[in-house]
Amino acid sequence: MNNDQKAIAKIGQYLAEAKRAIAFTGAGISTESGIADFRSPGGVWSKYQPVYFRDFLSSEDARRRYWKMKKEGYDEFKAAKPNNGHRVLARLEAAGMIVAVITQNIDGLHQDAGSRRVLELHGTSRYCLCLDCDARFSPDEIQRRMESGVEIPLCDHCGGLLKSATVSFGQSLPADVLTEAFDLSMNADMVLALGSSLVVEPAASIPLQAKNNGARLVIINRTETPLDGLADVVIHNSIGETLSRVSNHLGLELELQSSVSSEQSAPGDAPPR
Ligand code: ZN
Repeated sequence: MNNDQKAIAKIGQYLAEAKRAIAFTGAGISTESGIADFRSPGGVWSKYQPVYFRDFLSSEDARRRYWKMKKEGYDEFKAAKPNNGHRVLARLEAAGMIVAVITQNIDGLHQDAGSRRVLELHGTSRYCLCLDCDARFSPDEIQRRMESGVEIPLCDHCGGLLKSATVSFGQSLPADVLTEAFDLSMNADMVLALGSSLVVEPAASIPLQAKNNGARLVIINRTETPLDGLADVVIHNSIGETLSRVSNHLGLELELQSSVSSEQSAPGDAPPR
């Protein structure tokens, strides 16, 4: 076995031995579905200034910019499909090898792939929310309104401001989700950290806390992360490809598809810094 095969075998062994393994995912798992990291070249923030939450609330101009960006990102948002990375995670959960996915992503692709327990630290772009009465609206409906000329959609029920159910810059992470995520990491015996640069706090503390509590840490990311030195296994490669090999190693039955990769810009909102 070469080092690469050894690393795959080791991840397989860890998964087989783990009782409370969790996956922690970042933008890198979705770039393989054609959703660019919003911070990377070609990403949303190379084209647009981020709209801070306080500006969204106070400025009509900020809201107009926010919705213009949503409108332009809509086609990519609709086109994105789960890739092999998402699929293997769903299969691992079904096989009882991981208990949950904690994600920094807002694209809903884990759920599309079949993952059931998904903790979305930065919310979701799969629906829009009225900030006053909590009514939900489908992004398809909002898109139709904008295509018919509406620049700033408002709530049908109360006239309140609508916003994607994502966490914007300057908005705090959902406390209940964060608490559940830290509980899971506190009790985890293994963490698969996938496609996250592991620098955005407090999210990056989740794998670190698990490791400090004795969990095994596996990092799969295209580039180096600050936690690489602490990890039991580090692989700098494609997540879909690597997890497919892990899945094969474990003998999991899975319908895998050839992975998609492109440089499209992302829809969606930004997590806080
Ligand atoms: Zn409302």
